[in-house]
Amino acid sequence: MLTGTQIAFIGGDARTLEVIQRLTELDAIVSLIGFDNLKQSFVGAAHTELTEELFTELDAVLLPPVGTDDEGYVEGVFTSKELRLLPEHIARLPKHAKIYTGMAKPYLKKLCSTHSITLVELFERDDVAIYNSIPTAEGALLLAIQNTDITIHGAVSVVLGFGRTGATMARTLQGLGAKVLVGVRRNEHFARAYEMGFQPFYTSELTKHVGNADLLFNTIPSLIVTGEVIAAMPPRTVIIDLASKPGGTDFRFAERRGVKAILAPGLPGIVAPKTAGRIIASVVSQLIMEDTQKRRNEA
Ligand code: NAP
Repeated sequence: MLTGTQIAFIGGDARTLEVIQRLTELDAIVSLIGFDNLKQSFVGAAHTELTEELFTELDAVLLPPVGTDDEGYVEGVFTSKELRLLPEHIARLPKHAKIYTGMAKPYLKKLCSTHSITLVELFERDDVAIYNSIPTAEGALLLAIQNTDITIHGAVSVVLGFGRTGATMARTLQGLGAKVLVGVRRNEHFARAYEMGFQPFYTSELTKHVGNADLLFNTIPSLIVTGEVIAAMPPRTVIIDLASKPGGTDFRFAERRGVKAILAPGLPGIVAPKTAGRIIASVVSQLIMEDTQKRRNEA
């Protein structure tokens, strides 16, 4: 249980509600900042303002998946007020306090390192990335279905990258009966993709493997689907680029060539915010409980 542990939520979206729910169920003392337009209420959570004093007793601060922008502004879909995390807020935090977010921009990283506060970037964790790959693959399938006039079953589907998202994407497509080709750069990924029944190839030879593609799902976060690769595809190919912005596709060339290319970031939060929130809630609550237990043991 988190009895006595003080946690502040600053801004957030539908995913955040799942985290609030979980932490209040665990009996934490929860302060909500930027939830004034929220209809739902949580037992054990109190609405408050973003003041310096609030930070002096906190054990954890939870920011939305994107943390802050480059000037410290925090996005909150349940408020019309401006939320800005400033150095004077962080300076008030006890040294054991931690800040949790999905991905941090340099502003937040610098703020935390200047004040020696631990920053936890949840989306960098393997477990979170693997769990998140499930709604990501489902969202990618949704886009594929919406943007083609063929079934996934039987579709020649190229997946680029065989990491946490690529492996799930390939397996999900295979489950629906697609013909799955997987582009990798490591021998061990080639071997694993082969073992799993995919048709592996090396990305250095990508142009040779897209000639019959109905669908291409990219998870490589650098320019890989170049003009040359797009020129080797049939015009019917639909590219769904899952890699973080700006993606790995030459979108300008794809448009010129008449190949449909979609950049699809943030799918878990869009297609399955409840599940995406539960993923975050489960990991964050575990981490905060471990910290609470450690502090209690040291006391
Ligand atoms: P990951 O586990 O690191 O996988 C990335 C894969 O790309 C690895 O297999 C890596 O190979 C490969 N790769 C990287 N650079 C390459 C290159 N130049 N040539 C060939 N292969 C290359 O990352 P992930 O968690 O799957 O995430 C992949 C991307 O999807 C990230 O940009 C992430 O932000 C994004 N993402 C998007 C969504 C969404 O909703 N659209 C959701 C989750 C994640 P090595 O192992 O050899 O490095």
